Amino acid sequence: MANNIQAIRGMHDVLPDQTPLWQYAEHIIRDVLGAYGYSEIRLPILEKTELFKRSIGEVTDIVEKEMYTFEDRNGDSLTLRPEGTAGCLRACLEHGLLHNQVHRLWYYGPMYRHERPQKGRYRQFIQLGVETYGMEGPDIDAELILIMERLWKRLGIRDKVRLQLNSLGTIEERLAYRETLVSYFQANITALDEDSIRRLSSNPLRILDTKNPAMQQVVSNAPALMDFLGAESLQHFNGLTTTLDSLGISYEINTRLVRGLDYYSKTVFEWVTDELGSQGTVCAGGRYDGLIGQLGGKPNFAVGFAMGIERLLALVETLDNIPVARSVDVFMIRVGEAAEREGLRFAEAIRDAVPTLKLQLNCGGGSFKSQFKKADKSGAEYAIIIGDDEASQGEVSIKPLRGVGEQQTLSQALAMDFLQKFSS
Ligand code: ATP
Ligand code: MG
Repeated sequence: MANNIQAIRGMHDVLPDQTPLWQYAEHIIRDVLGAYGYSEIRLPILEKTELFKRSIGEVTDIVEKEMYTFEDRNGDSLTLRPEGTAGCLRACLEHGLLHNQVHRLWYYGPMYRHERPQKGRYRQFIQLGVETYGMEGPDIDAELILIMERLWKRLGIRDKVRLQLNSLGTIEERLAYRETLVSYFQANITALDEDSIRRLSSNPLRILDTKNPAMQQVVSNAPALMDFLGAESLQHFNGLTTTLDSLGISYEINTRLVRGLDYYSKTVFEWVTDELGSQGTVCAGGRYDGLIGQLGGKPNFAVGFAMGIERLLALVETLDNIPVARSVDVFMIRVGEAAEREGLRFAEAIRDAVPTLKLQLNCGGGSFKSQFKKADKSGAEYAIIIGDDEASQGEVSIKPLRGVGEQQTLSQALAMDFLQKFSS
């Protein structure tokens, strides 16, 4: 017999026992974004390869070695999106949404990167992306940070993450910094790994983003971009930190924070945790005013962030009590032919009267004993029991399956009243 086919390495199924946790977090995410008046945008998972090359930058980990790129049947080069910012901007430009308008958008879905799979690092992973257009900031930069802060609080993980901030200034400021940085690295070239030596001529700032522990010393002694910022960039950055200070939001300034993508300017930030090993960045983003022009649009302002949902959930899972919803509230046991018919009819009546109740019916027959086992396994809080006697009397029995309480027999009308407690 042939071997069973398995999922692609680094791409995971979310099984039914895990989906309540996902839905719980997704519900809170939608709530929080709604509270700030953000709108959802839904985007294709496939885009033309050129889009990512032009936006993310040729000399980045993503474009150099992580993209899932292939030729489609027409011979066009297509890529499974490795991130959402490029596609979101492409859509807004294509549909003329950026003309004299401001936007606050979010999207949620899978991203694809051919990385070495390990805990917190997958080849298909889910991101929440939030993008805003047309606002110069720094008030909108602060709003994004408030959204994330609120999300951590709602999920109960505020004390597990820290905010790191930096400013990347303008292109001109980065160019001046770049020269100083290159001289510094050249003077310390023996401390650089192969990748970094290659980047010295192509993209030296990215060396600061290295994950190589052996290079931490040379990176932490490097000159800081913050010292090269001009008045306008500094004013923008100070505007943001003053706002955060006034709201009591704590942050660390990390002058080595450059982010992996080329398109950022001014504000960049990451939320990091110490609880997930080396995959410690849960959420990252910043301002990318230059990207709209780079993609052929009229220059405009843009700032956003992306959050890795697997890492977010890994943090939530460290909590003791996670209030995830049950998949089944009530399980109906039906024994006997008349009871099966009457149970089905009554179940539909319950769903008419209490649409939010999650009611699962026993199907396929079985004794009371075997159906009670299934009721227990379903995770339901109550069992509704109908035998032929109950069916002929227009009654049902209700038995609590968790905690204390006796089974009681009620008229269908009273049982319906009882189940109203599941209406919300
Ligand atoms: P890292 O430094 O961990 O590689 P990154 O800078 O490449 O992250 P971004 O492109 O900024 O990540 O993506 C934003 C967020 O998406 C990350 O902070 C992380 O939470 C999540 N993320 C990125 N790559 C992966 C992956 N391969 N698997 C799971 N989550 C990921
Ligand atoms: Mg990465």
